Amino acid sequence: MSLLPAEWTALLYLAVAVCFILALKGLSSPKTARRGNLVGSAGALVAVITVFLSVKLDNIPAILIAIIVGAGIAAPIARRVQMTQMPQLVALFNGVGGGAAALVAVLELGHTDDPWVRVAVVFTMLVGAVSFSGSAVTVAKLQELITTRPLLFPGMRWVMSATLVAAIVACGFIVATGSAGWAIALLVLGLAAGLLLVLPVGGADVPIVISLLNAFTGLAVAASGIVLGNVLLVVAGTLVGASGTILTRAMASAMGRGVSGILFGAFRGGSTAGSTTQSDRPVRSTGPEDVAVLLGYAQRVVIVPGYGLAVAQGQHTVAELATALEERGIQVDFAIHPVAGRMPGHMNVLLAEANVPYESLKEMAEVNPEFKNTDVALVVGANDVVNPAAKTSPGSPIYGMPILEVGDAGQVVFLKRSMRPGFAGIENELLFDPKTTLLFGDAKDSLTKVLGAVKAL
Ligand code: NDP
Repeated sequence: MSLLPAEWTALLYLAVAVCFILALKGLSSPKTARRGNLVGSAGALVAVITVFLSVKLDNIPAILIAIIVGAGIAAPIARRVQMTQMPQLVALFNGVGGGAAALVAVLELGHTDDPWVRVAVVFTMLVGAVSFSGSAVTVAKLQELITTRPLLFPGMRWVMSATLVAAIVACGFIVATGSAGWAIALLVLGLAAGLLLVLPVGGADVPIVISLLNAFTGLAVAASGIVLGNVLLVVAGTLVGASGTILTRAMASAMGRGVSGILFGAFRGGSTAGSTTQSDRPVRSTGPEDVAVLLGYAQRVVIVPGYGLAVAQGQHTVAELATALEERGIQVDFAIHPVAGRMPGHMNVLLAEANVPYESLKEMAEVNPEFKNTDVALVVGANDVVNPAAKTSPGSPIYGMPILEVGDAGQVVFLKRSMRPGFAGIENELLFDPKTTLLFGDAKDSLTKVLGAVKAL
């Protein structure tokens, strides 16, 4: 017998749904993101407790053990993960969610004769399995356990088409007969489809595919809500599906690409394959004291953070440098490209960690016209997001991506370790521009030296 009357359960589910919506709203701004996260977590906790109190559950000890083991594995991983490895973690959790939804659907198949519920079952199984295996490939690519280049084999697109047709046939048989044998076949076909979908995607596009698979998991969870007759799962899954879809489109458009180009670009020979080619053309390298003089006697400085700042964990030092320059009466802003780093909002999160005021963070559209009036653009561990090839080289994998126009500034200083290219694996002509100087070294070390030299001016 359930402890909670049905009206109370409905009311609590409504409150949880409101929490999830408020969480999404909160996450849309760095100022409220922390609170949004807490509201969402609290909602999820209330949802779990409500299920325990309102549904007659079998095997409660087994469920509690699974929760304890799952939390025991996930919590330390989430605490220890580096910010630069966040996309992998999101992909891992997302894939497990899709897999869980698929397994729940398989078990529920034996409990229903209703063909409409079976439609929801096959949808959950197929999409959940695709999300599980696709996410596993994205984790392997981002952890560089396998190559980040697109992986293709001859006839792959035909194998993909045949797999999808076979999966649709299996869905038809399951809806008509409820056969467990076909259900196993559908799971295998779904897992194969996930692999075939993600293996041909190149490194720089993988985070976008993670977001897409996240949307898939949301839809699978929503469908499992229909299977289980649980309205909260339908609401939560739909929210994840919708927000994942919006994020996927926003990321793709920030990179100037279409979602179909990202998924099927390799088949057409137009994917973003990373490379480590280094140029040996001459560049102007400089020392920290010279950079300090350039910055210390400027009127306006714009700092462009990128992935390398996150790798070097130089956010606190760059914040200190900005403060030291401001104390000299210099106007300092941070220019934020929407795909700088390796995940949406990466630079915002990084700089928020170092308490850089939100007012100093300028988005691309706002800051680009201001580079003309900027004395020094200090590019810290960024490359692709300032690469003019996005505007000038139609064959380039980043062609069409809007960039931060640092070339319009009076002087450009790059802090990086070598002449290696950025994630997209292409040379940056701006490094060879006469107004550009390079300070080679780890970004945090270089920033520390420049900061010391600025203070000594
Ligand atoms: P890039 O990957 O283009 O460049 C990073 C730069 O940092 C490199 O030049 C590297 O050069 C340098 N670097 C790395 N480590 C250090 C270090 N410890 N100290 C100093 N420099 C370092 O990064 P961007 O941020 O400019 O661009 C992001 C890329 O990721 C784009 O291609 C974008 O499309 C892609 N992407 C981003 C997504 C997002 O949501 N943010 C999603 C999908 C893709 P060196 O090795 O010589 O030091």
